[in-house]
Amino acid sequence: MTDSSGSLPITISNVTKTYGDVHALDSVDLAIQSGEFMTLLGPSGSGKTTLLMVLAGFTRPDFGSVKFGDSEVIRTPPHRRNVGMVFQNYALFPHMNVAKNVGFPLKLRGVSANDIDNRVESALETVQLGGYGKRGIDQLSGGQRQRVALARAIVFEPRILLMDEPLSALDKKLREHMQIELRQLHEKLGMTTVYVTHDQREALTMSDRIAVINHGKLMQLDTPRQLYDKPQNKFIADFIGESVFLPVDVNNGVASYAGTALSSESDVPDQGRVVLMIRPERLQIVDGTAAPDINRFEGHIEDTVFQGESTLVSVRLANGDIISVRQGATADTTANKGDAVTIGLHAKDTVMIVDDSSDQITAT
Ligand code: ADP
Ligand code: MG
Repeated sequence: MTDSSGSLPITISNVTKTYGDVHALDSVDLAIQSGEFMTLLGPSGSGKTTLLMVLAGFTRPDFGSVKFGDSEVIRTPPHRRNVGMVFQNYALFPHMNVAKNVGFPLKLRGVSANDIDNRVESALETVQLGGYGKRGIDQLSGGQRQRVALARAIVFEPRILLMDEPLSALDKKLREHMQIELRQLHEKLGMTTVYVTHDQREALTMSDRIAVINHGKLMQLDTPRQLYDKPQNKFIADFIGESVFLPVDVNNGVASYAGTALSSESDVPDQGRVVLMIRPERLQIVDGTAAPDINRFEGHIEDTVFQGESTLVSVRLANGDIISVRQGATADTTANKGDAVTIGLHAKDTVMIVDDSSDQITAT
């Protein structure tokens, strides 16, 4: 199969696509590195599929440029772009067996029958379906079908692999298993991959970098860890992971909550409405002697919910605000409803962000 030397960087510049007055894509700039696993993440209707279709060549943008390596491809038809594609609903040919499905792109490219057999078997082995060639599509499970679709997408050794929500039809267990498998396959093949999902956890699990898209605009481009720890605004913090937001006052670059200055290791935004973002699993219930770089919040336990691997403890502060603390199974505090507690938040986890919620999507 191909290796990273055969893959290509993708440079997307100023790509815009409108449908009537809908901006499906609004001046998108995105540089994807050779061999990178890039995920386009956003809510339904944010423009992810449109961008993937622009890369595949099925949708022509109103303007903008797409380069594979140094070549402009905006006028190149899909079948000459040499990209592999996997969609949500496998799109396999039901009347052909597995081998015929996987060999189809090779047949289109005029590869000899003998060569096709060898390359199909090798692609099937890559997706752990060696020996399945003679099976009918209707004799396969959902996960196996999606692997056949993947084998078909990689059999001609494309330089770029595009996937649009390929796992969303699978149940949770299989989906999580396939996420790891796809990730390992990517490491093995090393082709530049653009992966679309609306599932933030899937994006965090699989990607080298994530491009968050909303309303056709690129909102933030970062590694999973950066995106989770340092979201640029409230929309992203809310969309990715679990969070609590508290209003803060900013004076001379120092943020305070309920009259108390907060220690923080990150910069406080100097414009817009600022909120403190807290990830519930970074909070601890502490005793009175906590270290000085910990911000403390005093309150009473309102509720505890056991959720298996963790317990969610809701604490009501004196001013009425509620903070949720997610306690791991090894936490040694046993908290009861009504108990007075102190919550500790490390300065490094004290992240102030801009509240852009006026921009926020409304459910449609
Ligand atoms: P996503 O894949 O993120 O759910 P899409 O890229 O499919 O979003 O769609 C982005 C926006 O463009 C949506 O508002 C959608 O309704 C609109 N759109 C996409 N394709 C078409 C089309 N062929 N005709 C009209 N509107 C479209
Ligand atoms: Mg879509």
